[in-house]
Amino acid sequence: HATKRTMADHLRKYETIFTLTPQRMRMITEAFKEALELGLQKPGQIVPMIPTFVFGWPTGQEKGEYLALDLGGTNLRVCLVSVQGDGKFEIAQSKYRLTEEQKQEDGQKLFDFCAECLKTFIDQNLTESDSPLHLKPGEKLPLGFTFSYPCAQDRIDHGVLIRWTKGFGAPNMEGHDVAEIFRKSLEKYDVPVVLSALINDTTGTLIASHYVNPKTKIAVIFGTGCNAAYMEHVSNIEKIKSLNIDSSTDMAINCEWGAFDSFEHEHLPRTKYDITVDEDSNKPKEQAFEKLISGRYLGEILRLVLCELIDEAVLFLGQNTYKIEVPYAFDTAFLSLMESDPTDELLMIIGIFSHFFALETTLAERQFFRALAKLIGRRAARLSACGIAAIVDKMGYLETEEPCLVGADGSLYNKYPGFADRIHEGLVDIFGEKGRRIVTHHAEDGSGVGSAIIAAMTKARR
Ligand code: ADP
Repeated sequence: HATKRTMADHLRKYETIFTLTPQRMRMITEAFKEALELGLQKPGQIVPMIPTFVFGWPTGQEKGEYLALDLGGTNLRVCLVSVQGDGKFEIAQSKYRLTEEQKQEDGQKLFDFCAECLKTFIDQNLTESDSPLHLKPGEKLPLGFTFSYPCAQDRIDHGVLIRWTKGFGAPNMEGHDVAEIFRKSLEKYDVPVVLSALINDTTGTLIASHYVNPKTKIAVIFGTGCNAAYMEHVSNIEKIKSLNIDSSTDMAINCEWGAFDSFEHEHLPRTKYDITVDEDSNKPKEQAFEKLISGRYLGEILRLVLCELIDEAVLFLGQNTYKIEVPYAFDTAFLSLMESDPTDELLMIIGIFSHFFALETTLAERQFFRALAKLIGRRAARLSACGIAAIVDKMGYLETEEPCLVGADGSLYNKYPGFADRIHEGLVDIFGEKGRRIVTHHAEDGSGVGSAIIAAMTKARR
């Protein structure tokens, strides 16, 4: 009869399917480059390459007091940013929690709430005569509004919501100019601000990181989702030719690159676990690249492998596995914890499985889980490297000896051990030694500081 396969035997199979060779990475990078080009040429492409109407880099000498409002997935954040020039700034902020109802109820009501929070913040921080910045009667502060949902813009201070993402569903918003709707709320509550810029968080991250470190060329977010922004020459953005913008200028592009390889699935190596994640998601076929990389999905991919091994009677025989069989029960933060377990016995992993899933594990199983996390985390980082490489290559950033800095943010980048190192290794696999010139670093707060700097840049242009 067949000899029993050990966990190490099983691992070999997963190593094969989750490992990306340098050769494969270079092929993905080439296809990625083509997708970026196509997105610049025509509207409505798979990678949409959204023009942001943020023109060029900040000088680093922007100055002044700006308000920033960040409507993210879970919180509403109001920031007062003092932009001080020389790459310096100070920030004071308050957070307000959004309820599930607010995400679903009428859009004007959602924005009324934003306006009220802004008003409260101003009343508390800016109207007292002893406050550091005393707002005089009739005076208005410029506001940068970070609204990180896909919007079509043809200037910086307006944007038509294409579709809600991240669980929002407020009716009467899609297809409408969100800046206009928000201005109505600002008027209604008599908030002393001028909405001067509507921006996406990746664009804000790009500008904030460049303000602090001018060698920054690209920004990437690795959070619930995954996206990137960079600065493009207007002459390369074929699809906005009719706007007759001075072709010697540059404009930031919000790539929305999470969509790479959606629908056609020609380029990315997807395992059957990835296909299950996709088919069971609320938007099958969409965000194909993001589904292999971002925090929302990595834990689920690992969980699906475990479920397969439970079905094959390899893992947890005789134990009740219902808790781990719940979709999305295994958070990506567990992968981080498993990979960083410092003990020989892998005590952290014992804890995760017993505490959250009521499961006992053997040492061999725990070593297997950790190795599996490593495969999935490493693949995510190496695929991200392909996206970064595509932008770098397209823009010729390695043609000079200058370092090319990439501002990166999001829990996956900030908290997953070794994630940045794996991106860097991937870049060397793609480009050889010169790939070492591309260095990621923790980005500046894009939705607060970035949006304030963009508001400052916008004011300077007027
Ligand atoms: P968002 O993208 O929603 O603004 P974050 O940048 O915090 O927020 O990303 C949230 C995602 O990061 C979630 O999918 C979560 O599973 C994942 N995450 C949270 N903590 C960690 C961690 N320690 N290691 C890896 N991923 C994490």
